[in-house]
Amino acid sequence: LVRARNVHKSFDQLEVLKGIDLDVAPGEVVVILGPSGSGKSTFLRCINHLENIQKGSIEVAGEQIGFKPSRGRLVRLSNNAIARQRRRIGMVFQQFNLYPHMTVLQNIIEAPVGVHGRNRQEAIAEAKALLARVGLSDKADSYPRQLSGGQQQRVAIARALAIQPQLILFDEPTSALDPELVGEVLSTMKDLAQQGLTMIVVTHEIGFAREAADRVVFMDGGHVVEMGKPEEVIGNPQHPRTQAFLSRFL
Ligand code: ATP
Ligand code: MG
Repeated sequence: LVRARNVHKSFDQLEVLKGIDLDVAPGEVVVILGPSGSGKSTFLRCINHLENIQKGSIEVAGEQIGFKPSRGRLVRLSNNAIARQRRRIGMVFQQFNLYPHMTVLQNIIEAPVGVHGRNRQEAIAEAKALLARVGLSDKADSYPRQLSGGQQQRVAIARALAIQPQLILFDEPTSALDPELVGEVLSTMKDLAQQGLTMIVVTHEIGFAREAADRVVFMDGGHVVEMGKPEEVIGNPQHPRTQAFLSRFL
């Protein structure tokens, strides 16, 4: 579903991604681990075309992100076409970014109705089903400020699912949460993983990686250093940098 090849990204002189290759199959859950500044968030943002890449290519569902082939060359897509590609990719951030002046239900139907032009009644019915899926059926009419951080993040997950994404990207979804609220969000994510959603998850939750990931990618210094099944990369890391990183979690 995702095919990244030799992805390079720099900010001015700073080279952040130095040739990333990654394939993600439909239904696969890939967890990206790595130290701060290794380029994890930047890579997710490139997949979603929130950043332009300078070299290499990223395909999602067979379409190259940001470009299309034309007479044997690649031409940059229009902003509309990029927006259309982005609509198939959900994203959940560390900060939940819910609209504070909208209820939970309004937050969830905003994109399907406002951006995708879906029928409002249908979107409401689906939003209620999504709220049930993340365990928040009773919160449809609450405002974000009336919810705990963990509940807000589960609303953000429901909102990301509301656009029926082919792929959902999570960037440290539990890092801003109080420790006692992390578990409920991770367990929601584990449910989604089991339901066959394709997910790329940047997290420092090693336990989640061990239990939910089909594959773990360890990034450092803009490179993929090591990649494999959780029992390989976490259980028996081969590269000294992976070993050093993981030793902090023991
Ligand atoms: P963390 O675990 O702290 O979230 P990360 O692996 O997600 O780290 P990135 O956010 O991808 O790291 O950042 C990688 C590097 O790119 C950092 O050195 C950062 O300062 C730099 N960087 C990220 N975004 C920008 C930007 N918009 N302009 C300039 N530099 C940036
Ligand atoms: Mg980051």
